[in-house]
Amino acid sequence: MTNPTEKIAVLGAGTMGAGIAQIAAQAGFDTLLYDIKQEFIETGLGRIRDFLKGSRERGKLSAEQEQQILDRLRSTTQLEDCQGAALVIEAAPEKLELKRDIFKQLDSICGPETLLASNTSSFNVTAIAANTQHQERVLGLHFFNPPPLMALVEVVQGDRTSPAVIDKATDLMRRMGKTPARAKDTPGFIVNRIARPFYNEALRVLGDGDASVETIDRVMKEAGNFRMGPFELMDLIGNDINFAATDSLYQSFFHDPRFRPSPIQQRMVMGGNLGRKTGRGFYVYDKK
Ligand code: NAD
Repeated sequence: MTNPTEKIAVLGAGTMGAGIAQIAAQAGFDTLLYDIKQEFIETGLGRIRDFLKGSRERGKLSAEQEQQILDRLRSTTQLEDCQGAALVIEAAPEKLELKRDIFKQLDSICGPETLLASNTSSFNVTAIAANTQHQERVLGLHFFNPPPLMALVEVVQGDRTSPAVIDKATDLMRRMGKTPARAKDTPGFIVNRIARPFYNEALRVLGDGDASVETIDRVMKEAGNFRMGPFELMDLIGNDINFAATDSLYQSFFHDPRFRPSPIQQRMVMGGNLGRKTGRGFYVYDKK
């Protein structure tokens, strides 16, 4: 059980933020969802409601539990409302200056006992914390998509994050029903770094004309027992996001060829073939 005063604030009601707010509310925390505009909050809350409704219809949740979860969720467009939170999780767009600015503001709004976490996929937690007075309470909490279904969370210790903060965040993640894995503040942390060759080598096999998209995905699933093939996964994540993550690691490792982004994927991004979200990527998706 959680302390009734314990509050978790989530910044950004997009793909990740809405999912993270949902799991915090499901775990019994008083949850605050912040975004810069009310309409973005409504979209995020709509997705949470749909998810919970689906769970109720499948018998995984009672109507009473569904209502209790929704009652624990509040929303705001005022960043000051994060005051008093035990933990703030930032899930705003992947732009370093934006994140640094958010953390600077949070640093003056929240007392030093509040843990400030970023869900960044590719930036250095230490760089995000650089403008804050209390760098010891800034850390990375890297959730996976979709947060309500993916158990793993990488708990990232920046250069100046205190070990006590990491312990506290690890405990909070367990209480949110997650499986925390500690990671160092290195480019891509653990998972995104290891995943790069999976995508990149698939793109190279395709580029060399050695196998088709369909064949690569099928063999990885049938022989490799992967749940999704690399091209299905790139279409799910979004080719723009996936390309940006690869490029970010490539820059961070000083152009190490192991991380060199693929011109095939770059062309897809430039052509707007982003994957499921645009209806076309490596595959074509029926809007229905
Ligand atoms: P998204 O574009 O779906 O959502 C971002 C949200 O942030 C939007 O609702 C936007 O209105 C809001 N926002 C804009 N400016 C803001 C501000 N100043 N303060 C607070 N919110 C603001 O993006 P996403 O896919 O949810 O990604 C969010 C973060 O999570 C990024 O750092 C991304 O790298 C990381 N991440 C994404 C994935 C993924 O698969 N999409 C997985 C892990 C981590």
